[in-house]
Amino acid sequence: MIDNCGRKINYLRISVTDRCNFRCRYCMPVEGVKALRHEEIMSFEEILRFVEAVAPLGIEKVRVTGGEPLVRKGIVEFISALSSIEGISDISMTTNGSLFKEVSYDLKKAGLKRVNFSLDTLNPEKFSYITRWGKLKDVWEGIEEALRLGFNPVKINTVVARGFNDDEVEDFAKLTLEFPVVIRFIELMPLGDGGWTKGRFISAQDIKARIKSELLKVNNIEGNGPAEYFQLQNAKGVIGFITPISRHFCERCNRVRLTADGKLKPCLASSAELDVKGLMRGGAGVAEIQKVYKEALSIKPYGHNMSYDKNDDGRDIKRKMWQIGG
Ligand code: SAM
Repeated sequence: MIDNCGRKINYLRISVTDRCNFRCRYCMPVEGVKALRHEEIMSFEEILRFVEAVAPLGIEKVRVTGGEPLVRKGIVEFISALSSIEGISDISMTTNGSLFKEVSYDLKKAGLKRVNFSLDTLNPEKFSYITRWGKLKDVWEGIEEALRLGFNPVKINTVVARGFNDDEVEDFAKLTLEFPVVIRFIELMPLGDGGWTKGRFISAQDIKARIKSELLKVNNIEGNGPAEYFQLQNAKGVIGFITPISRHFCERCNRVRLTADGKLKPCLASSAELDVKGLMRGGAGVAEIQKVYKEALSIKPYGHNMSYDKNDDGRDIKRKMWQIGG
């Protein structure tokens, strides 16, 4: 379906849980978050009914995220059920990777095609610091396993923060010489907790400048979302830059989001959301679900104004990244 601004919307991101086994400093507070009660979370059966209703309206691609999607029990069976929905041709996941290795084969068999791993540092001590207790080894083994099993592409999402990992940009870029991965540097958004805001921000332009080796421009990679892509000479992988702050890509936005507590969000950075869970629990059938989905598309903002000038600490954006489903 086409939204009110003429954009083709074919991509749904589903947050299957608000819980996470890490507490990344720029994302969640250390004390954790008041986890939603079981009954507040959309059941897998409800999510599947929702996807079945919106697939005929043009949703073809689904990304499963969270919180940490792999902490939710039954995730493999859920992916399998998702992949049998007519019209859904591409299922991907964003994960911190710490639990990936164990279930990687089952996920592949269930129909998961692509995986994005979040990894902000290649230094084990810094990794435990930023995640508050995670082990880099677990994530790296997950990435290697994903490559071995043939997930394609395997992407690594790296949020760059001044004074934390900006000195590792070149090291991350050089991973593409050895591994066929897509490294995507992401600008820190004012959506986190614990003061990881303006002072830590580095624009993609400055991140790029940290890479001293020559970057060769790669033309649009099909299905690779909002990043701009480059390659190092003789590299096996690709390097991308995602610029939610310095250069908005709203005119190319093709997605809507379903939060773990069942709200349909037409835009990451807007507080607009429609209550799908309440509707479905009130007995709504396909037609009513489709009606609320169409309404979401009709109010999808043309663009967002997320910036550090107007919005230093994200106070205008009611939900945080882990609640929205990053
Ligand atoms: N737990 C999964 C993971 O770690 O990938 C999925 C959820 S996590 C919220 C999704 C992505 O959001 C991660 O790549 C994380 O780095 C990113 N993220 C969280 N807070 C952010 C912020 N303030 N700015 C930019 N990216 C952020």
